[in-house]
Amino acid sequence: WTDAHVTVAGLGVSGVPAARALRGLGARVTVVNDTDDERSRAQAAELAELGAEVRLGDGATLPGATTLVVTAPGWSPGKPLFRAAAEAGVPVWGDVELAWRLRSDGAAPWLAVTGTNGKTTTVRMLAAILSAAGLRTAAVGNIGVSVLDAVLAERDGRETYDVLAVELSSYQLHWAPSLRVHSAAVLNLAPDHLDWHGSMEAYAADKGRIYQGNEVACVYNAADPATEELVRAAEVTEGCRAIGFTLGAPAPSQLGVVDGILADRAFTADRQRSAQELAEVSDVDPPAPHNVANALAAAALARAFGVPPQAVREGLRAFRPEPHRIAKVAEIGGVAYVDDSKATNTHAAEASLTAYDPVVWIAGGLAKGAVFDELVTAAAGRLRGVVLMGADRALIREALARHAPDVPVTELDRTDTGAMAAAVREAAALARPGDTVLLAPACASMDMFVNYGARGEAFAGAVRELGAGRGGPG
Ligand code: ADP
Repeated sequence: WTDAHVTVAGLGVSGVPAARALRGLGARVTVVNDTDDERSRAQAAELAELGAEVRLGDGATLPGATTLVVTAPGWSPGKPLFRAAAEAGVPVWGDVELAWRLRSDGAAPWLAVTGTNGKTTTVRMLAAILSAAGLRTAAVGNIGVSVLDAVLAERDGRETYDVLAVELSSYQLHWAPSLRVHSAAVLNLAPDHLDWHGSMEAYAADKGRIYQGNEVACVYNAADPATEELVRAAEVTEGCRAIGFTLGAPAPSQLGVVDGILADRAFTADRQRSAQELAEVSDVDPPAPHNVANALAAAALARAFGVPPQAVREGLRAFRPEPHRIAKVAEIGGVAYVDDSKATNTHAAEASLTAYDPVVWIAGGLAKGAVFDELVTAAAGRLRGVVLMGADRALIREALARHAPDVPVTELDRTDTGAMAAAVREAAALARPGDTVLLAPACASMDMFVNYGARGEAFAGAVRELGAGRGGPG
């Protein structure tokens, strides 16, 4: 690394640790960043202390001596910096590629998960199962420890892992050409981030890279043919198997559900005939269909690693979901209030809407180019009513008018801090005992909130206020 001159593209959660690591390895480092604001200046000062050069406000010019570019995953392939790198014959790696290349001999194998929705949940379930089996592991990726930090800790001997449960986004996969993992799962594929990838085909191809060179198992969703297609297109190590998961009874080489039992017909001694009982649907928190699918995917990866059935049950029982992912906040007057603020796209919102009936749906925000017809059609029969808020609420209103004209819709024409409380009050007025009020916005939150977490907190706060007004949550 002492001969390398690495240009790190972008500061932030990926660029700063990458620059730090590369300086630690002795590389010459220049960080380029599009913006020049207070936050980037603070980060630049820290990196300058480590001997990195930082160029703020110019993310387009490739420094002349560059031998390698390490980019933040969010930087899209069309950027001028990458054109310049291609012309100069300089390779471009993402932070995951850097991590992968920095693994030492004998480093822990990776079990990797991608998909449009459910990645974080599945990776955390997988880590819980691996831990229950007594393995030293960590859930790494978008939550907690970054992949690069985990690999560096392992490399320096600060941590010892038997196996890592790794969440990978489509961006990270795009920039990780040499990744070859033990086993991987693609949970589902629905249009998302198409502005970045350029097309659905390019998005799918980047997700499909996760299967490239897999050693033991490629886990796919039997209900989502696009995921199986990606397995077929991948070049894998000889002997690597395709393993499906389904919410129905499992065929051979599948995990599935039989009479409320999660059953494995892929990793049993006689996989043609018998099924191995892994856990009960009620062991999964929450036991909504899409979440059972996440549990099956996690179980498939764990079983591919040789984990016994009992550990799957123990791990799933120990697992608790992250906040704002279908979290029940309270029950007031027989109505359940559920926070799924993390449902930031239509595919996620559809999964949670189909778990409740009848449901009062709170939705809206930034649509990111989404179309709502399919979602509204799928949910129409369950909707008691809808409360819409946020910048792109008209798009949802119009889809409702087309496909669910009889469903009562209340629209909030305000974006102040009290807007969520007003939405919850409107939803409560529409709900009847036995209903669920569900915040599943199908949109990003940044028009009104700092992030989806703040949106979920606002919802939970408003529900608690409502409960207090009515003599406390029931
Ligand atoms: P990711 O890390 O992919 O964003 P999360 O596990 O954080 O996924 O879940 C995000 C949201 O996606 C959840 O709030 C839920 O609404 C939805 N979701 C979770 N799992 C699935 C799935 N398997 N299919 C569809 N939607 C899902």
